[in-house]
Amino acid sequence: MSGERKAGERSPGDKLFHKECKFVAGAMTLEQLPPMGPIEVAFAGRSNVGKSSLVNALTGRKTLARVSQTPGRTQQLNFFDLDGVLVLVDMPGHGYAKVGKAKKAEWSELIEGYVRGRANLRRVMLLIDARHGYKESDIELMNLLDRFALSYQVVMTKADTLKPGPLETNRQKFLDQIKRRPAAHPEILVTSAEEGAGLSDVRDALATLAEQG
Ligand code: GDP
Repeated sequence: MSGERKAGERSPGDKLFHKECKFVAGAMTLEQLPPMGPIEVAFAGRSNVGKSSLVNALTGRKTLARVSQTPGRTQQLNFFDLDGVLVLVDMPGHGYAKVGKAKKAEWSELIEGYVRGRANLRRVMLLIDARHGYKESDIELMNLLDRFALSYQVVMTKADTLKPGPLETNRQKFLDQIKRRPAAHPEILVTSAEEGAGLSDVRDALATLAEQG
């Protein structure tokens, strides 16, 4: 797609993400969810997967999602409006071992309630460390999303930590591991927040969803 653009021309996703991105609301409970507006795309991933870094890199802002928040601290869904056409939702990180059962149950209730009731939620971007692949808590989330037939797309983070060969081997492996899952998107995106790699691909995927409404 990008090959058809003239040199220096921004992709549709880059254009969209150049617009202002504003914090709308934080929800710790289902009652605190903001009213449904434009379509939403949520970012999910285990604590430390690089979610804050990626969301900040995508939006070109340093302070949107806090980097390296103490894992297990206040868990909330954060909503950011992008030019009135797309809402980015930062989901609380999952799978932190030191979080007790009660916290885990709280997380499940919030995520499950949000996912179940949100008609304008189009996709969950599930962030996976390029080196490590799926962990138990990622699989639990995929099971939930498959159950609710809610589309999710795997995004590999920290691509800069691997050489091109092993990176591609892992991409193929991660794709094979999810190919029978009904709600999994058939394409895996590869990113590095640190080096800015793959950001336009993620932005373009989200711009396409926003366009489809
Ligand atoms: P979060 O807990 O998922 O929000 O993860 P953070 O964005 O806070 O990042 C966790 C750690 O991974 C931090 O030490 C980051 O500096 C590091 N990190 C994040 N993105 C990248 C990346 O693209 N490449 C590398 N090498 N490290 C990264």
